[in-house]
Amino acid sequence: MEYKPTIGLEVHVELKTRTKMFCDSLNDADEKKPNKNTCPVCLGHPGTLPVPNKEAIKHVIRVGLALGGKINPVTKFDRKNYFYPDLPKGYQISQYDQPLVTGGNLLGIKIRRIHLEEDTGTLVHAQGSSLVDFNRAGMPLMELVTEPDITSAEEAADFGRELQLILRYLGVSDADMEKGHMRLEANVSLNMGTKVEIKNINSFKAARDATLYELERQEELLRDGKDVAHETRGWDEAKQITVSQRSKEEAHDYRYFPEPDIPPFETVAFEPDILARELPELPAAKRTRFIQEYKIDEGQSAVLISSPKLAEYFEESVSELKEMERDASASLLANYLINDVRAVAVENGVSLEQSHVNPEHLAHLVVLIIREKITSRQAKDMLEKIFQSDVDPEDILKDESYYAISDSGELDVIVQDVFAENSQAVADYKKGKIQSLQFLVGKAMGKLKGKGNPEVLRELFMEYLKKK
Ligand code: ADP
Ligand code: MG
Repeated sequence: MEYKPTIGLEVHVELKTRTKMFCDSLNDADEKKPNKNTCPVCLGHPGTLPVPNKEAIKHVIRVGLALGGKINPVTKFDRKNYFYPDLPKGYQISQYDQPLVTGGNLLGIKIRRIHLEEDTGTLVHAQGSSLVDFNRAGMPLMELVTEPDITSAEEAADFGRELQLILRYLGVSDADMEKGHMRLEANVSLNMGTKVEIKNINSFKAARDATLYELERQEELLRDGKDVAHETRGWDEAKQITVSQRSKEEAHDYRYFPEPDIPPFETVAFEPDILARELPELPAAKRTRFIQEYKIDEGQSAVLISSPKLAEYFEESVSELKEMERDASASLLANYLINDVRAVAVENGVSLEQSHVNPEHLAHLVVLIIREKITSRQAKDMLEKIFQSDVDPEDILKDESYYAISDSGELDVIVQDVFAENSQAVADYKKGKIQSLQFLVGKAMGKLKGKGNPEVLRELFMEYLKKK
């Protein structure tokens, strides 16, 4: 018997808005002081009235449009009733049978629905007692549910990554898994049998590992003729196993009913047509366009589009480059950005995204390399300088003091050594292989540990080669 994985995801996303979902309290995920951003509405005081946040509704519509879903003409909020100390009202305002969005598709996986609800508070367990922080209570929370179309653990993680990227491109959420802006639950079964819901997944790697573990655990049970229990399990990151949390036999009846304080409403009021026109270029389209337009490979494109800021930076820099050297290779620039700029950034403890190397300066640097004014080793040194003080590489080159050794007498000794050691390159040059000159300059630069002035070196080599 073959066991085919059937996996569905439920994804919760904290939306980026100024205020909370139904009140004026600030929506600030970074607030450290407990219970600072609260008011009678999000604390669930009797007699208060919820007023839906328009920006949050627009965000969900944007996501629906980006994923090709149907924006339902009429939508409504419902009360989901249950008791838990982090839920001050005793119910959560959510959406039940008329979500904002129905359908859609991402990476070939069908989306069942996308709806809007409010987040709960957080419990802080300290010194034998539990405290409640309501800063998060009432924050706008989007929930996306897929059909059980996913057929491997890898595919589940890929779906999460691509969704995260789209959310960032749309600007609707920072979607940081580690910070809990984006939370995944995986529903896992084999051949659409009894499903297990896995919670406590804090990264895409954990999504993959937990799903893989669960698929293997279920297959083993079935092979032994045992049943898979219908339950919720938690991912134990340290032990790399899933552990039973609660049986679905104890499943709640939430007694959903329409939220009486918010009447059903028409989505046309949020101008979905305009929102559709204003959608940015999405990651998949950008990925393909970069490959075609800039003649870079898939791997380079994937890295460059991994953040909207980085993609924008690359395009700006390429456009500067093409202005100076029409036929310059964008792929060379992409490589410098992905490898060298990143290396310098990492050495300095920031991400590539946070590096402040001006796109124009990077383009200048690449031009200097193309025109063979500097060696790749010097380019690395320059990059470090540009990174530190955002200077133009042209200015660095003009500044003689940049090169420890510009004195031709001193360089002359090195040039003679290089000639003596590389007679083949000299012969090649005389046969017309002009690249050999750059090779010789490179050798001299190696001896000088990158500290020679390449202009002076070139001149010296040329002078001697003419005489030879
Ligand atoms: P529940 O009522 O238990 O919450 P739903 O039908 O609402 O279940 O589905 C929740 C999630 O579980 C969805 O992502 C759905 O695709 C997925 N799912 C449903 N049935 C299965 C199954 N047999 N195996 C795996 N995932 C499933
Ligand atoms: Mg569910």
